[in-house]
Amino acid sequence: MMQLRRLSPVLRSAGTWIALSVLAPLGMLVVSGMMLLDLRRDAWDKAEQTSRNLLQVIERDIARNVEIFDLSINAVVENLRTPGLETLDPRMRQLVLFDRAATARDMGVMLVLNDRGEIIDDAGAMPPRKGNYADREYFQAQRLRADRGVYIGRPIVSRLTGEPMLPFSRRVSKPDGSFGGVVLGSLKLSYFTRLFDQIGLGREGAINLYLRDGTRVMRYPYEAADIGVNIAGAPTFMRFASARNGSFVDVSVRDGVERYYTFTQVGDLPLILNVALSTRDVEAEWRTKALGIGIVLLILCGLTVALSLLFGKELRRRTLMQAEFSRLSETDTLTGLANRRRFDEAFSYACAQVARSGKPLSLLMIDADHFKRFNDHYGHEVGDAVLKGLARCLGASVHRPSDLVCRVGGEEFALLLPDTDAAGAFRVAGAVHAQIATLVVEAAGIGPGGITVSIGLATGTADARNLYTRADTALYEAKAGGRNQTRCVPSIGPQSLDKPSLRLVER
Ligand code: GH3
Ligand code: MG
Ligand code: MG
Repeated sequence: MMQLRRLSPVLRSAGTWIALSVLAPLGMLVVSGMMLLDLRRDAWDKAEQTSRNLLQVIERDIARNVEIFDLSINAVVENLRTPGLETLDPRMRQLVLFDRAATARDMGVMLVLNDRGEIIDDAGAMPPRKGNYADREYFQAQRLRADRGVYIGRPIVSRLTGEPMLPFSRRVSKPDGSFGGVVLGSLKLSYFTRLFDQIGLGREGAINLYLRDGTRVMRYPYEAADIGVNIAGAPTFMRFASARNGSFVDVSVRDGVERYYTFTQVGDLPLILNVALSTRDVEAEWRTKALGIGIVLLILCGLTVALSLLFGKELRRRTLMQAEFSRLSETDTLTGLANRRRFDEAFSYACAQVARSGKPLSLLMIDADHFKRFNDHYGHEVGDAVLKGLARCLGASVHRPSDLVCRVGGEEFALLLPDTDAAGAFRVAGAVHAQIATLVVEAAGIGPGGITVSIGLATGTADARNLYTRADTALYEAKAGGRNQTRCVPSIGPQSLDKPSLRLVER
């Protein structure tokens, strides 16, 4: 309860509300910013996980199929060494040669080529189809080196079926080790298309399969023009080739789209596979959320600022109004001086100060002499003008900021002089008499000296509580003593009078 009461002036301050109008939206912005960053991190974590999983699934499928495919080709190479193969009739020879060769649906052609590149055995036709493959890159590669094992050539369009294929080949060596030809098995590229098509990768996502030399074997989404293109010099490919697997963000040389690439070598094969998600797709969901949250946040911030500013403005207006009311409630409307209420407050405060500090406090009670006559003779309006003139004279007689001039009654004024001893107060009383001696009210033809006041003076040091009564008594005595003079209760020693017009009468 106490704390609440202590808080209340803080809450009532316009400054607090203006500070709140800045701090609250700032706080909201910081918290939301952190939340959005967190959501963005989540989106990327999800993308990384998805990419890794996809890559693993595709890589395993390709590695397994290629292994089966190679086993089939290898079987043909081994079958070529079967004793008495040359003596078998062509149909039997085909059966013996290709018995273990897979009849997988993705196999294109399976051929045995002699050392001149001519087809001598054909798993798909009896008698073998005619053709010479000496010009094929894979044929030349096998002819030039004996230790290649399985060789994956660049993608080709089959001369027999017209379909795009990936050629796998193994060398056939003669008994003396010299080049005896090639067993060729080609994998239809449609295998990859089918495999990649099963995967949803967003609008700008892509899957690529490259040969180690930078030749693109397949791309999803498929475009014929992409197949066989060599991108060995592209920065992205250099990064694929630099490690067995990894991930990075880069801009595609093909279409300029920024993508998050996750790549791996396929088994131990000279193939590099990558899954690429466009960064725009990765962040799309997050972006929509961020936009929504951002808009709501901006509206909330705007509302908070507007409401707090309005509230602050209203509070300031009310504070000013209250200050004005309180000023008016303590001001005398006719003269603009402090009124009786203000005097009572200031007097209590000054008495308390005296008790604490021991410094003297003086009070002058000032009453216009025969004021009733002005009213009766010139009318109330002139009376009021005299009162205003008296107020001006009193104001001009004091100079310290702590001195207070009040109108305490009809034609009765008080001067409260903190930290002022009797001698000082007498000097002020002298100044009051002198000021009033110069007062003129032209409208009524009242000249200098026409208006006088009587002053009752009292000074207190230790106890100022009876100061008012003493000053009032002194005033009464000043009146009784003939007016236009200052009296003091209790009496003090003779004071030097600098103005002969002032008759200072001691009691
Ligand atoms: P004394 O020298 O003994 O003080 O005589 P006095 O006439 O000044 O004293 P008295 O108390 O008999 O009269 C005061 C008069 O002041 C009475 C009243 O008409 C007048 N008066 C009081 N307040 C106002 C005011 O606001 N305006 C005007 N014009 N006259 C006022
Ligand atoms: Mg009077
Ligand atoms: Mg009076």
